[in-house]
Parts: sequence; structure tokens; C-alpha cells
Amino acid sequence: RRKNLIAANWKMHKTVSEAVGFVRELQKSVGTFDDREVLIAPPFTALLAVSKELSREDFFLGGQNCHWEEKGAYTGEVSVPMLKDVGCRYVIVGHSERRHIFKEDDEVINKKVRAAVKWGLVPILCVGEMLEEREAGKTFEIVSDQLEKGLKDVDLLDGRSVVIAYEPVWAIGTGRTATPEQAQEVHSFIREKLSGSYGKDIAHSVRILYGGSVKPSNVDDLMKEEDVDGLLVGGASLEVESFRRIIEYQ
Ligand code: 13P
Repeated sequence: RRKNLIAANWKMHKTVSEAVGFVRELQKSVGTFDDREVLIAPPFTALLAVSKELSREDFFLGGQNCHWEEKGAYTGEVSVPMLKDVGCRYVIVGHSERRHIFKEDDEVINKKVRAAVKWGLVPILCVGEMLEEREAGKTFEIVSDQLEKGLKDVDLLDGRSVVIAYEPVWAIGTGRTATPEQAQEVHSFIREKLSGSYGKDIAHSVRILYGGSVKPSNVDDLMKEEDVDGLLVGGASLEVESFRRIIEYQ
């Protein structure tokens, strides 16, 4: 059975001392479960300090973005080997804010996914439709296209080398969560697609996370769905108590 992954995407929040204090308190207050893992993705500036603070085996560190080259004249960018160097195991790629605010296209996102896999980080590839697209009945088409382009020429040795996050854009930061049925419908579609490209065994072991207005009040129902293998949490991951309740979903 897949191990569920509960991920905090802090976006552009928390200073070093806030991040360290948060992680210290969270590790003390969260119970241990053998069916789930926790991921913290702080801003770049707090990665090293958080890395040093992480002491639990079920807690992991991730970057929120990366560049696709190993090094070079790319002012303001951070490479995959640099993220590994500070203790990251994961990197979020193609988040909708990167796609929309920073105009990243599927080609750039694909380069980042390939770079992550090549240098040994697990990319969390984010996909998801916008409200107009859902209303026009294009959800599967959009998700399918983003998945295909994002994973182009990505060879997977096993299903643990990549994570997919389904984040419907209309649910991000809006308070409007997808229903468990809506999430499950897209998640099972994603797994079918992965099965077509990589075979059943690999597709079965890939974790597919849901993201978009996740909060303590809706996690239990979301996590009951067969193909929901975890959560990518924004706003509700910024406070210890609410993130603890999310990690401890029933
Ligand atoms: P919210 O949980 O704040 O809606 O953000 C979701 C998200 O974008 C996580 O990556």
C-alpha cells in the first residue's frame, strides 16, 4: 500500500526563526503513524535551518521550485543539487502560482521534472484546471495534457520517484475545496493515465496528492478516497495546530 504524504507548501511565508520554531513544535505534537509521512516545503532561505531541526524519520524537507541546470549564470535561481545539498528529498514543480504568476509553461516544467529525477529528488508535479476549464467540461483534457507534457521523456524506475499533485486552480486559496468525489474522479483518471505510460505496478505505487483549500474540517473525507494518497496544504499548513490536525486525519 502507498504511504500517504501530507505536505506543507508554505509559499512566501515564515522567517528562519518562525520556520524553526514551527518545526520544533510540530515534531513534538504530532503522533507517529506508520501509514503516512510529512513534508515541509519552506522558502529557500529557511531550508537549511529547518533541515537541521528535522529529527523525525517520518518528516521530510522539500523545495518549492528549482532550476533545471546544475549550475551557471542564472541569477536568482536554485538548482536541484543545491536543494539536495541542504537536505531536501522533494521539490514542488509546476505549482499553479508558478504557471500563472511566473508564466512557466509545460516545457519548462518538464525540464525541471527531468532535472529533479536525474539528480535524485522526487518532483511533486502539480496539475489542475482553471474554473472556466472545469465549467467548459475540459478538466480531464487539461489534466491529461499537463501530465503528458510534464512527464515527457521521464523514465521512472519505480513509482516512488515522482509524486503528482492535483490542485484545481479554483480551489487554491479560495476556501472552495473540491468535494471528495470530484478529487477521486480526477485522481483515478490520473492513475489510469500513468498506468498507460508506465504500467500498472508503477502507477499503483505513485502517490497522488490533493491540494486546494484543505483544512482540518475536510481532510477526513478527502483521505477516505481510494486514490487520494495525501494532501498539499497551503494556508492551513501555516499554523501548528491546524497542520497537526490535518496530519492526524482519521
Ligand atoms: P491553499 O491550501 O491555501 O488553498 O493552497 C493550496 C496550494 O496551493 C498548495 O500548494
